[in-house]
Amino acid sequence: MAKKKRQGHYCRICGEWKANEQFSGKGHAAHICRECAALPLSRRNELERIGRVEQTASKLRLTKEEWELLEKYAKSTTYPELKAYAATVLEHRRAMRELGRSAVEQAAYSDLEDELKEEIGDLLYHDILFFFEESAAAPTWRQLDRIGKGVLKSYLTAFHLRITPDESWSQQCREVSETVAADIAQMDLEQED
Ligand SMILES: [Zn+2]
Repeated sequence: MAKKKRQGHYCRICGEWKANEQFSGKGHAAHICRECAALPLSRRNELERIGRVEQTASKLRLTKEEWELLEKYAKSTTYPELKAYAATVLEHRRAMRELGRSAVEQAAYSDLEDELKEEIGDLLYHDILFFFEESAAAPTWRQLDRIGKGVLKSYLTAFHLRITPDESWSQQCREVSETVAADIAQMDLEQED
């Protein structure tokens, strides 16, 4: 059986595929069917803009320009149908975006991959070292806990990953703090030499 070819021609105004005879010679090149060509210019403009909104509705991700276009059309004072449609699409896209943002993954610290633990360890080291330098003292357990929570929170903000602290995390915090203290003592020794 022969492959079925799409017959006819696409109209960029109404977005429909129509038979070739429904396009005039000029309309063919401009991709406007006879029916749409007969419409008043303002209606054609509105339908064309609605077509643009339709395209954004099915896209996975919108560019900044597309967001701006939707926002602009949703406030249109010239085209009521466009305004209503763009507002609906905009509302739907915003809800989808929120949903994407709230999709947080959760894992206990001890279940993380070694590579990630190492990365977190580096951040922890940096923040604890900063604390030592700022307060010229080792953090108390409570302060260490706060520093650790700050590090974990950055993963929630940046990667939507909620890391729940467990015993292994507390141990990691203590170890890194001890390492920092040892490194500082070493640096002080070297400076005295
Ligand atoms: Zn048309």
